Amino acid sequence: MQRLSVLLPTPNGCYDYLSTEPLSPGRLVQVPFGRRQPWGVVWNQKPDLTVPESKLKSIILAPDFLPLSPDNLTFISWVARYTVSPMGMVLKMALIPDPNKVSRHPLDFASPNPKNTNVTFSPAQQVAVQSLQQYGQNGFDVSLLDGVTGSGKTEVYFERIAQALQTPGQILVLLPEITLTTAWLNRFRDRFGVAPAVWHSALTPHQRRDTWRAVLSGQARVVVGARSALFLPFQRLNLIVVDEEHDPSYKQEDGILYQARDMAIVRAKLANCQIILASATPSVETYCNVQSGRFHHVILPERFAGASFPDIQIADMRHREKGPVRFISSDLKSALMENLVRKEQSLLFINRRGYAPLVLCRACGERIKCPHCSAWLVEHRRSGFLQCHHCGFTRPIPTECPTCHEKDSLISCGPGVERIYEEVLSLFPNARTEMTSSETMTNPKLFQALSERILANEVDILIGTQILAKGHNFPNLTLVGVIDADMGLAGGDLRAGERTFQLLHQVMGRAGRQQKSGRAILQSYSPDNLIIQALQKNDRSRFLTEEIESRKLLQMPPFGRLAAVIVSSKNQEQAYQTARQLARTFPVLPTITVLGPVAAPLAVLRGKYRFRLLIKSDKATPIQNILHTWLHQQKIPTSVDVRLDIDPYSFF
Ligand code: ADP
Ligand code: ZN
Repeated sequence: MQRLSVLLPTPNGCYDYLSTEPLSPGRLVQVPFGRRQPWGVVWNQKPDLTVPESKLKSIILAPDFLPLSPDNLTFISWVARYTVSPMGMVLKMALIPDPNKVSRHPLDFASPNPKNTNVTFSPAQQVAVQSLQQYGQNGFDVSLLDGVTGSGKTEVYFERIAQALQTPGQILVLLPEITLTTAWLNRFRDRFGVAPAVWHSALTPHQRRDTWRAVLSGQARVVVGARSALFLPFQRLNLIVVDEEHDPSYKQEDGILYQARDMAIVRAKLANCQIILASATPSVETYCNVQSGRFHHVILPERFAGASFPDIQIADMRHREKGPVRFISSDLKSALMENLVRKEQSLLFINRRGYAPLVLCRACGERIKCPHCSAWLVEHRRSGFLQCHHCGFTRPIPTECPTCHEKDSLISCGPGVERIYEEVLSLFPNARTEMTSSETMTNPKLFQALSERILANEVDILIGTQILAKGHNFPNLTLVGVIDADMGLAGGDLRAGERTFQLLHQVMGRAGRQQKSGRAILQSYSPDNLIIQALQKNDRSRFLTEEIESRKLLQMPPFGRLAAVIVSSKNQEQAYQTARQLARTFPVLPTITVLGPVAAPLAVLRGKYRFRLLIKSDKATPIQNILHTWLHQQKIPTSVDVRLDIDPYSFF
């Protein structure tokens, strides 16, 4: 009998098992574990000889799958160490249930054909293609593929994929889930003759299993997926592309808190392959790496076929005519009118679902709150509910104030997408107006159908949230109105400015992806704000320079490091005392500052009280080791939950 160390998808990590045959590290095995029979992976570590052999159980099954390659195993332990999480919980993201279950109708994973079509590149694209090809000879190498939306970045990295397909190995393309659309997949199919393997949260168990196995066997040559595709069991990666590398959704915000773009770079390094980060608005982190020479900079300077960025105008909302509450300024209203007359399409952007973000009572001043969170309830008039956007709590819209019981005293404050829709209907009753948000677009088919209606010119005015910022190119869309350009700037967390710049730049880019000249109007109460100014002048480098200067000054990422500690409990006193104990016991080092504990901005979430600590250090300090050792010395009451968030993106 052989003694093997097996990593299981549990918080405790490796266990020893017996096997009749030797199994190499990376082999998948099914083992008895309590009353369950989970799948695990033979780990590349020495068995733990403290347990006598007589107490060990035997593995149940070791099917004939190829083993996970060594860089997969290293990647799992790397992510665990970096995020200060249990290795088994990282493994959990890399496994699927019942990997050996037989599929009755197996999916087909035909290899994409690099020579399916002939593309003629613009001179700028040619230079980009050649540079990327050259950098691709170096083994591990990072390039930022930088160009405005519509400059032909996708076409360029498709060409790099075509080249990579002619050598052995697999290719991974990461997209934010929202951009993983039928349009993108159709484009891939046109270019390569077949669809790529796809990986995202909406796959059926059968699709998930077949895809996972095709990745493991190496049969799936190109995989396009959302961030979780990073954990697929590639045999040999040969190229990684991270499209929209700046997108905040690459940061996973529950379970293991990881940044998929950063981890993709690690994965490329372990596989010793090229990685291309594409963006029209690169993240500050990536831009700093370009400036320091760690990443190559491949630039596409203009829009493909000469389309231009729209003219941008700021509508100053501070000096508006008095009258009933309106969210659409007269400037924006006339622009919409002109577009209707010209039979061109307009997009109104507001990044808030529902009708109004707050309902209050005119009689007693009560603001209706979530009973489980310190947050206002958002009015969703269409569905007749008030909803908490943090925990999902809903209640019917009351007809009287829940506190003072005055009738008809409730008023809606501020706009959401439904309210803008209502206003447009009253301003332009004859226009064909559509509203869309993540609530109405519950599956990709609906989105596809809407896109087709827009392309067929069946929509005049489109109102929507972030869901419209990306994806399809609508040639007749020539006006973008941003209802509240200041919205993302409030709160002032580390990346508020960066996110606002990226999102609004992208949204405004929707007008002007065509030969017709486009136009954008930014409604703002702070027109002198640096971000709003940079947006109006379309001056990315000014924005980046100032943002980088201020981060450097404050020693904020990427010049320093942050880790957040979030302490939560149903028991407020225990949460607070634990947070204080954590702060008190944190090792005192000259390179580390501990801020807090303070009550989190969302002081109560899902009925739990929350306190936050922020650990700030310089770049050289091995913060993960320090956090790991420190946390393991703590006695934390079982009723208290402590989470570490390395490189936090959310600060609520
Ligand atoms: P980006 O990824 O930078 O937004 P795309 O690659 O999507 O840019 O290109 C924008 C548009 O121009 C697309 O409709 C694409 O099909 C077209 N395009 C880009 N490059 C070429 C090319 N070399 N030949 C023909 N069409 C191209
Ligand atoms: Zn809530």
